[in-house]
Amino acid sequence: MKLISGIPASYGITIGPAFVFDRAEIVIEPHTIEDPAAEWLRFEKARKDTLSQLDEAYRVTMEECGEEEAEIFNAQKLMLNDPELINTAKSRVENELISIEAALYETTESFARQLEAIEDEYLSARALDIRDVSSRCLRNLLGINKSPAASLTIPSIIVAQDLTPSDTVLLDKDFVLGFCTAEGGSTSHTAILARGLGIPAVVGIGEGLEEIKPGDNLVIDGDGGEVIINPDKKTIKEFTARQSRLKELQAEAEAVSHQPAITTDGHQVEVVANIGNVDGIQSALDAGAEGVGLLRSEFLYLERQNLPSEEEQYQYYKTIADAFGERPVILRSLDVGGDKEIPYIDMPPETNPFLGVRAIRLCLTRPDLFKPQLRAALRAGYGNNLKLMFPMVATVGDVEDIREIFEECKKELRAEGHDVAEKMDIGIMIEIPSAAVLADQLTDVVDFFSIGTNDLTQYTMAADRTNAHVATLASGFQPAVFRLIKIVIDSAHAKGKWVGLCGEMAGELLAIPILLGLGLDEFSMNPPAIPFAKRLINSISYEHSKQIAENALQLRSDQEIRDYIKKEVPEVNPG
Ligand code: PEP
Ligand code: MG
Repeated sequence: MKLISGIPASYGITIGPAFVFDRAEIVIEPHTIEDPAAEWLRFEKARKDTLSQLDEAYRVTMEECGEEEAEIFNAQKLMLNDPELINTAKSRVENELISIEAALYETTESFARQLEAIEDEYLSARALDIRDVSSRCLRNLLGINKSPAASLTIPSIIVAQDLTPSDTVLLDKDFVLGFCTAEGGSTSHTAILARGLGIPAVVGIGEGLEEIKPGDNLVIDGDGGEVIINPDKKTIKEFTARQSRLKELQAEAEAVSHQPAITTDGHQVEVVANIGNVDGIQSALDAGAEGVGLLRSEFLYLERQNLPSEEEQYQYYKTIADAFGERPVILRSLDVGGDKEIPYIDMPPETNPFLGVRAIRLCLTRPDLFKPQLRAALRAGYGNNLKLMFPMVATVGDVEDIREIFEECKKELRAEGHDVAEKMDIGIMIEIPSAAVLADQLTDVVDFFSIGTNDLTQYTMAADRTNAHVATLASGFQPAVFRLIKIVIDSAHAKGKWVGLCGEMAGELLAIPILLGLGLDEFSMNPPAIPFAKRLINSISYEHSKQIAENALQLRSDQEIRDYIKKEVPEVNPG
């Protein structure tokens, strides 16, 4: 038995076998071959395997997404059968006696570069396909398991160096008992996804990852941030008992989840959900969400191979907004860059991607991305309560630019005869310290704020949210972050505007009493956290929480604040 410490990322306890997810790099060792015919036979076998995998990918994608997305795999099959590509690679093997891996890699790279050089969006995107099919074939040649996700066949705990959003969407969630990663902090996307799914997770275990072997029995303690490898009987018994206590607590919380969140002295706040797609609707409603405080639209862009059209976005946003009827749904405009990459959106490499052209900065320079989304939102917002908000706003000028394009889209749509939302509220996320400091000016140009503490924390503390080594600094419990939150709420309230918070903190029981006391109007969180948050809000008084907030803001460290809350509000300790 061995204990490894990491960062608690998603509540709950889970026990099960380790599935070590290894996205192995392709390494091609240069060497001279002796038998080109044998080398070619190896290629033929790998090509056959690749073609049947592409058939399977076509079938699954057709079932899950539709013909347009599935077609990509047919196109990739054509590429792998392209006589020009095959003959070029073959003649290099025969004439230069290089390995088929080197020949295939160099040939496909050269084809891809030629396509990229043509200034045509469609052909450039084909370069990506050539690289994709080449890498699939190379993995087959090298015997590297191409899709680790495919071999997940029994309920397991996913153990990985790190998981990209695209890795994670491929996993069959029915078989995922928990997550454990070497990298990442509590607001990394693995953590957010785990919380969204209600799956226990510990991230940032660093070198501890090397201790875990495939099939090891693991305990994941998502509250304490601990992983136990091959626990003894006594430990298993202890954690099984804690698991049952947590289930009881959950039942208690679920009993109040469909009631409003009102403090014991009558102060009501809104508790809404963070969702990423249509699948999130039901879990949000079941959990007692009073609306959606953050619809992460980038998920629509992530799970596919090409840009969603305006029409598709319209249908998608409308389905979600209509499902909530009069309840608000806040759609966030495309937020990519940083650690969220979309392979088919061309974003130049950045030295500091979190500080570069991401989120609204990308959209403001790419009307081809931004306008279809705004138009789709304006159309989808007709007859329901859809609101729009924009991530990563840094200046008042950003909002003015957004409004100009927004009004332009509205005018165009009306001229085209579309029904558009009569009045659509526009808000911004406060996630850059400059926006918090300028909140009194920004409040004049928006209808609401939603504080994105995941990013606000990393920018305030200059601590990368995905870097486990600075996880203590990248904590929303840092006094500086709470002070900025206070500035934002006070500035908005002074002008009669409301403030929500959709960073991970909104669903953290330890943070709720302080946020409540600071006057936060709306708490937006992953659906599984909603019942627990409501249970807590219903159990404390607004007057007490105001006192708590005032005292907490005088404390000098993240730890002092956490300890103070644990002592002051015993209800925050789960299980
Ligand atoms: C945030 O930064 O707090 C936020 C909610 O946005 P994301 O985590 O998607 O960057
Ligand atoms: Mg953010």
